[in-house]
Amino acid sequence: MASNVTTSNQRRPSVVACPDCDLLNRFPEDYRSTLLCARCGAVLYRRRPNSIDRSLALALAALFLFLLSNSFPFLAMKSGGFVQETTLLTGIRELWKQGLQGLSLLVLLTCVVAPLAQMLGLLYILAPLKWGRRPAVGAARVFRLVQEIAPWGMMEVFMMGVLVALVKLGHMATIVPGVSVYSFGALIFVMAAAFSCLDPHLLWDRLDLRR
Ligand SMILES: [Zn+2]
Repeated sequence: MASNVTTSNQRRPSVVACPDCDLLNRFPEDYRSTLLCARCGAVLYRRRPNSIDRSLALALAALFLFLLSNSFPFLAMKSGGFVQETTLLTGIRELWKQGLQGLSLLVLLTCVVAPLAQMLGLLYILAPLKWGRRPAVGAARVFRLVQEIAPWGMMEVFMMGVLVALVKLGHMATIVPGVSVYSFGALIFVMAAAFSCLDPHLLWDRLDLRR
């Protein structure tokens, strides 16, 4: 990732250091062009068209999928005429009851709290920008926070664990994936897409207009 060189009274990074050869390149004024390193040709900045619109739409879709994932059963286990359904939150509560408090809190943090905070943070930053108003109060701080909690969102690790359990428990009981498994799976991709559409350079520039 290219590092930016700024001074406190500049609104945008004026130069970008090439991560491959360290050459300082001047940042484009209008965000409409791709910036290549003048010496080695490495891509330092690639324009992402309609990044605010796309990220906002994807963050809204992610929030919808998140609500869906927490409202419907995750898995149903059928064994000897006995059926037990679990949702994401009841699963976390069961872990707590079984004495696995640490694991329970970890799943809560990485699969519920961190992703929800990221989605709400994105919506808080992007919605006022989309509708042409000034950036929301503290939006720059929220954006920094959203970037800092990103490593704590581990929905894909959880999903992988669920898939392994599905295969392993398959011969002991009939496991029926619920609506939530599909919406949760989709949520992982939609969240990744929302962040990949985001243009941090453009966003920082828009958020800086408050100053
Ligand atoms: Zn270079």
